[in-house]
Amino acid sequence: MTRDQDLRAKLEARQQFLTRRLGKVEANLRRSPDPDSQERAAERENDEVLEGLDAGSLAELEELRAALARLAAGTYGVCTQCGDPIDAKRLEALPYAATCIECAS
Ligand SMILES: [Zn+2]
Repeated sequence: MTRDQDLRAKLEARQQFLTRRLGKVEANLRRSPDPDSQERAAERENDEVLEGLDAGSLAELEELRAALARLAAGTYGVCTQCGDPIDAKRLEALPYAATCIECAS
C-alpha cells in the first residue's frame, strides 16, 4: 500500500464514521418530544448537544472532502496558505489539515 492509498483509506474511514454518526444524530433530532414529558428540558439540552455535534461533524466532513480532493490533485500535505510542506506530525494528528502550523495559528 502506498502512502497515498493509506491516507485515502484513513480519510475515507473517518468520512464513513462521521456520515454514520450524522445519520444517527438526525434520527434523534427528528424524534418529536413528548409534550407532557417532564424530561422536556433535559431533552432540549440533549438536542442542543446533538446540534453542536452535527455542526462539528459537518465541518469535519467538509475538511475531509477537501483533503481527499488535495490527495487526488497531488497537493496533499502542502500548506494551502504559504505552499510550505505541512509537518508530518501535524498531519498525523490532523490528517485533513490544510495549512501548516504557522498559518493555522
Ligand atoms: Zn503555511
